[in-house]
Amino acid sequence: MQGLGDTMVHSETPLYQCAQCKKEVSSELLKYSRDGKRLICLDCHTKIEKAMALTSQPAWSSHTREDRIKWACSCCGYHFTMKKGTSVALRCPYCGSRQIERDSHSAQDILDSV
Ligand SMILES: [Zn+2]
Ligand SMILES: [Zn+2]
Repeated sequence: MQGLGDTMVHSETPLYQCAQCKKEVSSELLKYSRDGKRLICLDCHTKIEKAMALTSQPAWSSHTREDRIKWACSCCGYHFTMKKGTSVALRCPYCGSRQIERDSHSAQDILDSV
């Protein structure tokens, strides 16, 4: 409980600045961020955790290439991917048609056009 040689701090609890909101809080209200590089207050930590939970899901699903199947709508030609084992009835997300075909050969086209 002895001072750490910080002459600016007297009897008060030292305050640390939150890297996120710049608010000054005491050390027990600070937490390391996920990457362990920043100290942020509990408020921000909660906010970030919530935001991560919300944003990480769509980001992941669009980036994982394995266990995804490519489909092509034979009605409008729209290409899309669905997760393997998706229980939802297959439909073209563009025109709603159920005339969907496995799109095996045009994977290269998609890669080229992106
Ligand atoms: Zn904060
Ligand atoms: Zn379609």
